[in-house]
Amino acid sequence: MKNPFTTPRPVPEGPWRWLVPVLLVLLFLLVLLWLPWQARQMEANERQEQLIADTLWVEQTLRFELARSEEALATLGADLVVEAPAANVLQARLAQMFKNGHELRRVVWLGPDGGVRALRGMELPAAGLTESSREAAEMARTTRAGRYSEPYGATAALHGLVDFHLPLYRAGTYAGSLVATYNLQTLLDENVPWWFAQDNALSLLDRDDRVVAQRAAGGPGRGIYTHKRALDLPGSQIVLATDSVKGAPKLLPNLLVGSVIVLALGLVLSLVALWRHIARTIAAENALRQQMAFRTAMEDSLLTGLRARDLEGRVTYVNPAFCRMVGLPPEELLGKKPPMPYWAPEAMAEYEQRFRKVLAGQATPQFETVFQRTDGVRVPVLIFEAPLVDNHGRHTGWMSSVLDITDRKRAEELSRQQQEKLETSARLSTMGEISSMLAHELNQPLAAISSYTAGALNVLNRANADEGSAPGAAPALDIGMLKRALEQANTQARRAGQVIRSVHEFVKKREPHRENVAMQQVVDGIRALIDMQARQSYVTLQVDFPPALPPVLADRVLLEQVLLNLTRNAIEAMQDIAPERRLLRITAQETDAQVAVSVIDNGHGIAPEVAERLFSPFFSTKAEGMGMGLSICRTAIEFHGGTLSHADNPGGGTVFTFALQKA
Ligand code: ADP
Repeated sequence: MKNPFTTPRPVPEGPWRWLVPVLLVLLFLLVLLWLPWQARQMEANERQEQLIADTLWVEQTLRFELARSEEALATLGADLVVEAPAANVLQARLAQMFKNGHELRRVVWLGPDGGVRALRGMELPAAGLTESSREAAEMARTTRAGRYSEPYGATAALHGLVDFHLPLYRAGTYAGSLVATYNLQTLLDENVPWWFAQDNALSLLDRDDRVVAQRAAGGPGRGIYTHKRALDLPGSQIVLATDSVKGAPKLLPNLLVGSVIVLALGLVLSLVALWRHIARTIAAENALRQQMAFRTAMEDSLLTGLRARDLEGRVTYVNPAFCRMVGLPPEELLGKKPPMPYWAPEAMAEYEQRFRKVLAGQATPQFETVFQRTDGVRVPVLIFEAPLVDNHGRHTGWMSSVLDITDRKRAEELSRQQQEKLETSARLSTMGEISSMLAHELNQPLAAISSYTAGALNVLNRANADEGSAPGAAPALDIGMLKRALEQANTQARRAGQVIRSVHEFVKKREPHRENVAMQQVVDGIRALIDMQARQSYVTLQVDFPPALPPVLADRVLLEQVLLNLTRNAIEAMQDIAPERRLLRITAQETDAQVAVSVIDNGHGIAPEVAERLFSPFFSTKAEGMGMGLSICRTAIEFHGGTLSHADNPGGGTVFTFALQKA
């Protein structure tokens, strides 16, 4: 069956459908967390590298300063070897050197014998040069190159000092030496720029890692970014150590990491919410799919045809039962507008008229019509039409349920034919009985007519004879007698005619024809017939109607038939009682809305087992009875919307009463 709603593809079950998105989200979160960590690492590396570069630069600066001083000394030394200048000139040159390098604390010129030739700056200590300085002097002399001593003299009060020994040679012979003493602290203070000192604590360390000079304008270092670099002075192992005042970059130093965490949390929360929403949607979808499957199965197994149409009459849905009824597949029906392929040509006008009403929004709620199947067979159907209203309360079309009433129609037709046959045969049998009665009854009037006319003829003959035998005598014709005889003959002839007409009317097959009928007239119409039967059975007939009985709306002949049957039954029921008690009464009463007519007899009454089957067709207790009388009576009375009932007559016998609506 084609369904207007396409069934959605089922969603794969199980945890697999979640695997890929969950993995991706986890990966995304990992990357989110890794990024700030990586940024922090990079920042740390960058700082370290920066520190190394800066340290290198400071080292170069210090080395450069010392090298400049070494050079000045070498120039002075070369001059001293050639020719000793005057004392004041030497002092002036030394003063110039002190001016150029503030770190310079002392310059001593020693002769080849070690005696002091000249001195500027600090006094020499009483104990002479330190041991390391002497070692340096010795090494300088041996290697013939300038040499630094190890730093010395660093105390809380006095900063570390270092000596530089420059041996002097004249023509390859040792000619004394120049000894310069530098204050390492001043070296740092003078040569390290303030901005570097602000960010880093700087120290000069001796070979035992003792601090011999220090500069820490921005406070002590944190010990996180540090770098050590040897100053690389010949003979001395002074190391320059830098220690940044900056701490390690924090993990959550900035908005970035904070927002990453907030975003990640938001993502997780929204994923959970989405997951729950999807789970609910899937559950609802499954329930809907089950319901759809159930509904489709239900619609497909229905025997009633279903058809939906939109407001323009286009077919939007049909179920299999409907397709079977019209013999067409759904593809040929869906989307079709009238004229429909199952419309029978002979009923085209009727369909079109009904379709116009549908377009005008007034579908007939229930009607019978006929469809033509593809094989040409006509299918009588009963259609219930109802407006199709969507869940917003909008009228979107029409829904029809279609019942195939072929079987019902066939049964109705069969029963109608049978009823017709039964009525005809009942009439025929009644006619048979009545015609034999007619023969008997008509004998009487015919015999009477015959004797009256014979009497009249006699009177005429006699008058003729008298006239011939005695001419001139008074005529013997008895006019009075002749008239009476002819009047009697006439009355009898009319009565015979009435009986015949009445029977003829009754037996004649007619369509019911309703009119205002007075009960008195009905009884008068068949009185002759009833009289005839009553007289034959020695039954006295009494008709007892109130004077102003209102008429009823009925078919006159059918009512006559009912009365004839009831009176005949009553007469027959009294056949076994004493003739003087055989009384047949026909009475009538008026109630609010009805007129009730009763046929009362004194007969043998009705036993309970007979009463049960009284109105069944072909039920009779009589040897020659057909058992159709009461069945026909009840059909006729109910046809008029009335009732037929029976009751026991208190004085013995039975009362049959039928009640009909007043006209
Ligand atoms: P039929 O007269 O051919 O038997 P009816 O249908 O007229 O068929 O009557 C059925 C039966 O009902 C009768 O056979 C009879 O037994 C019973 N019956 C009908 N009318 C009376 C009556 N007035 N009194 C007693 N029995 C009656």
